[in-house]
Amino acid sequence: MEKYVCKVCGYVYDPAEGDTNAHIEPGLPFATLPEDWHCPQCNAPRSEFELENGPMPGMVAPIGQ
Ligand SMILES: [Zn+2]
Repeated sequence: MEKYVCKVCGYVYDPAEGDTNAHIEPGLPFATLPEDWHCPQCNAPRSEFELENGPMPGMVAPIGQ
């Protein structure tokens, strides 16, 4: 599932782990989190999170060929 990154502090919400401190059970996608959920590290609102979409290792095409 897709991970989301807090743009304020860099915290990563991993759906596989959930957020047990906020009673978010593992397996819940970011999109299903409550509207009032916030970053467990810096209290940033959901709107401060963005999809983690860095390139996957081994999937970067060679350049110049
Ligand atoms: Zn944060």
